[in-house]
Amino acid sequence: MSATVGTRTGLVEELIARYPEVPPEAVLKEDLLRTGIAFDDDALTDNLDGAVKPKSYFIFSFDQKPLTELGAAATQRPPEEIALTGGPWELHRTIVSVRVNPESPYRVDRELRLSLEGRHLADVTLPPMPEYYRHELSNGKTVMETAPTIEWGYLIYLTVLRLCQYFGAHEECGFCDINHNWRQHKKAGRPYTGVKPVEDVLEALALIDGHDDGATHAYTLTGGSVTSTVDGLAEADFYGRYAQEIEQRFPGRWIGKVVAQALPKSDAQRFKDYGISIYHPNYEVWDKRLFSLISPGKERYVGREEWHRRILDAAEVFGPANVIPNFVAGVELAKPFGFETIDEAIASTVEGLDFFMSHGVAPRFTTWCPEPTTPLGRDNPGGAPLEYHVRLLGQYREALSRHGLRPPPGYGEPGLGKAVFSVSSFMDVL
Ligand code: SF4
Repeated sequence: MSATVGTRTGLVEELIARYPEVPPEAVLKEDLLRTGIAFDDDALTDNLDGAVKPKSYFIFSFDQKPLTELGAAATQRPPEEIALTGGPWELHRTIVSVRVNPESPYRVDRELRLSLEGRHLADVTLPPMPEYYRHELSNGKTVMETAPTIEWGYLIYLTVLRLCQYFGAHEECGFCDINHNWRQHKKAGRPYTGVKPVEDVLEALALIDGHDDGATHAYTLTGGSVTSTVDGLAEADFYGRYAQEIEQRFPGRWIGKVVAQALPKSDAQRFKDYGISIYHPNYEVWDKRLFSLISPGKERYVGREEWHRRILDAAEVFGPANVIPNFVAGVELAKPFGFETIDEAIASTVEGLDFFMSHGVAPRFTTWCPEPTTPLGRDNPGGAPLEYHVRLLGQYREALSRHGLRPPPGYGEPGLGKAVFSVSSFMDVL
């Protein structure tokens, strides 16, 4: 019997052996995303004063402990992402979003080596500080807070509304800590703007445009759902206003994307008219019962069937390839509501993929991070089984090919060693 049976190392090695169609890079990346990483103090950043790009907290916390329990990582931010290479599996370069968990069996040490249970797994490269982060807006705000970039600098992430109007246990999605994250950053005295003024966003984009050496390729406009109004504007007008101003000022400079509720077709058309080319009306989880329990606000304000209908309506506006709804991979198995078995969860998720892909719409997924202040994170601190995440990657690739679809646009190049999408491995395995 191997000495690693029953350990995390044993689990990872077993899954790599059992699913040879999924590369070790992706197995490891999924495990890091669902488990988080502990950092030696020397592997943290000097915030905006150093040579390494710090974690911006671009929308959710994506940490597995509250800010108050992160130790040194609360005052000296961790890096936004890490790039893994080499090690015993001779990994191709793999970009992983940083989710901090001081109790993780994965550790990045001061020598910038990633280990699991003390065993070296990969060499770590930290993201360099981009020149545009060294500049401030005229009102003193930082580019990192106003217009952070992720995906190794590919995507500008514009969370222009840091709060969601789905509020409280009966409306907030069970996996989402957007409102809590806003509260914890405010409490810690960090700059964290609830509604970002359009002028700030434009000024930050001008700094990026002037200093990025062509590295940024897309922006995402996003934030919480608007069920009434913000600044007197309903959701399509609120987010649309930013799109309109950005495209007027920087026509076609970036691929414009919006993450919003599944809105009526006329609203989707407005986004398109403003210059947005990709729309993400995220459906979060496919199963009917789970959708109503996990995303009660979406069920209440729009309803599952209507949500799906609007996704297909939007495909007529943007073209099916440019409607890319996200789901949160792993919540299908979250207690107390989730499926009992991995087989059932996979079958349900694939049913959803087939539904959308048969209409030419390719969803994408992020790997669930069980944030402790959310109901699902509290009840499932270990996240979903790694096997689910590994099998889903294979199933996703098969579904795309079964429906004759190409990798979704707006994420850069797919493939091992090339993909930059950091919050799931779906682009690494295509
Ligand atoms: S709609 Fe759900 S996932 Fe999106 S911000 Fe609101 S609570 Fe979070």
